[in-house]
Amino acid sequence: MANPVIKNKNRIWLILNICLIIILLSLSVYYFPALLQRYDLEKGCVVSFIDVGQGDSAVIQIKGGTNILIDGGELFYPGTQKNSFKRTLKKWLKKNKVREFDLVIATHPHSDHIGGLTEILKNYPVTTVIDHGYLHESFLYKDLLNTVKNKRIHVIKPVAGQELKISEDAKLLFLSPAKENVFDDLNENSLVTKFIYKNISFLFTADVGYDAERWMIKNLEDYLKSDVLKVGHHGSSTSSSALFIKAVSPKLSVISCGRNNPHNHPEVQVLDVLENENTKVFRTDLHGTVTVFTDGEDVTVKTEK
Ligand SMILES: [Zn+2]
Repeated sequence: MANPVIKNKNRIWLILNICLIIILLSLSVYYFPALLQRYDLEKGCVVSFIDVGQGDSAVIQIKGGTNILIDGGELFYPGTQKNSFKRTLKKWLKKNKVREFDLVIATHPHSDHIGGLTEILKNYPVTTVIDHGYLHESFLYKDLLNTVKNKRIHVIKPVAGQELKISEDAKLLFLSPAKENVFDDLNENSLVTKFIYKNISFLFTADVGYDAERWMIKNLEDYLKSDVLKVGHHGSSTSSSALFIKAVSPKLSVISCGRNNPHNHPEVQVLDVLENENTKVFRTDLHGTVTVFTDGEDVTVKTEK
């Protein structure tokens, strides 16, 4: 007959082991992606298109520790008091241990782009803000400008054709808007930024539409070709003309939009244009956060879903 004390000890030992395995498994699920991302970062740079719902936000992490943020998504889920920033971008930054930014780019003053940016400027060390420079009378945008002023953050207001060197291997090129070409529409005046890392380039078109696309084709066509494209205006049919997509001819395209969004983004017309150009399409509404790694020669993609 088994000794009841030994039997109990065995049972406690078994329970402790099961608990330990559960803890280790949950820790690995949480930390493994971050470790993997760090490993990739050692070899080049990682560009993450964050799933912020209906909005835009991308984080560029460059070998050596430079971090760039382009837009910050909404602060609140539209029509609610639920904090979208906390549940999306802030959570991602914490998980990936991104704690400060060398550059923060505000493409244009709509809430789905700058909503979360003021929270970033208030709560994270930021060296420089790159602003489109066109005044807009919204509370959010004024709050952003006041935060920049109060925190004495350095501001750059670039124009089309200007270049900003980040490191030996990385630079930013601004492709729109031009000083002499201001549009009536805020979306059209979005800051278009090309990020170049060695031989690989990423084009961030924010919410520009046909007018700005036409201007870029006419004036800066040679600079449009890019390996990765952040598709304009969440896949709206007011952007991504066939001519523009042809000029960019991206290998990969990322559409940043919310699941079941009320605007029906991305629109079928845009998906058709992208398909005709044979670019592989990733969508944050379907794939979650889309992460593109490059060593400066090739690109690989990882998706959250
Ligand atoms: Zn937008």
